[in-house]
Amino acid sequence: MPDTVPAPMPSDLLDLARAAQGFMPADEGDLLFRIALERLPHGPGLEVGTYCGKSGIYLGAAAQRVSGATGTTAVVFTVDHHRGSEENQAGWEHHDASVVDPEFGLMDTLGRFRKNIARARLEEHVIAVVGQSTTVAAHWRTPLSLLFIDGGHGEEPARADFRGWAHWVQAGGYLAIHDVFPDPADGGRPPYELIYLPALASGSFSEVAHTGSLRVLRRTRGSAGDPL
Ligand code: SAH
Ligand code: MG
Repeated sequence: MPDTVPAPMPSDLLDLARAAQGFMPADEGDLLFRIALERLPHGPGLEVGTYCGKSGIYLGAAAQRVSGATGTTAVVFTVDHHRGSEENQAGWEHHDASVVDPEFGLMDTLGRFRKNIARARLEEHVIAVVGQSTTVAAHWRTPLSLLFIDGGHGEEPARADFRGWAHWVQAGGYLAIHDVFPDPADGGRPPYELIYLPALASGSFSEVAHTGSLRVLRRTRGSAGDPL
C-alpha cells in the first residue's frame, strides 16, 4: 500500500458513487479507489461484475486521476452479461424490480450502468465488456495491474472467475475480491472458499489490505499469464 495518503475522490464523484444503485459500501469503495490509484499507472484494470457501475465510479475516478498525472488514458474494463447473478433474480434478497426488461422478463442493468458512468463523465475510463465472464476470460490476453472480482457468487461462477482471470494479474499487481466472508454467519462462502483461499494457497498472492468484505492481495510470485 502507498505510504502517503492520496487526496480523496472529488466530492461530486463520491456523491454519484454513493447514489448509484449497487453493492459497494463507501468505505470499501474508498479502498478500491486507493488501490486503483496505485496500480493503474502500470496497466489496465479489470472488474468482473459491473451491475449498475457503482464500483465502476470508484475505479473510474482513480483512472481519471492517473490519466491526468501520466498524460495517458488509464482504463478499467468491466465485464458483465448484465442479466444479474442468481442472487439478483426475482424473489432473492438483492433483487431490484426496476432493472427488469419486460420484453424478456430478464434483468438488464446495462442502461443504468451507462447512465451512471456518463453522469460521472467517466466514459473514457470505464469500458464495458458485455458478455459471460468465462467467455471473455477465455479470449483475454492482456496483463492486468488490478483485477477486481465481484461477479456471480455461486460456486460455479466463483470458481470460474478465479480460474479464468486471476493469472492475468501482473507481478506486483492486485487481486481484489469482494464479499469475502470467513464467518459463514456473515454471508455466502464461494468468494471466500473458491477465490480468496485458493489465491493464497497458490503461493502467488499475499494479503495486503482489507476493509469490510473487500480483500486485497498482491501478486508476489510469477507474472501475468503464468499459471498460478
Ligand atoms: N460491482 C457491482 C456489483 C456487482 S453484482 C457494484 O458495485 O454494485 C454482480 C454482477 O455480476 C451482476 O451484475 C451480474 O450480472 C454479474 N455476473 C454474475 N455472473 C456473471 C457471469 N457469469 N458473467 C458475467 N457477469 C456475471
Ligand atoms: Mg459485491
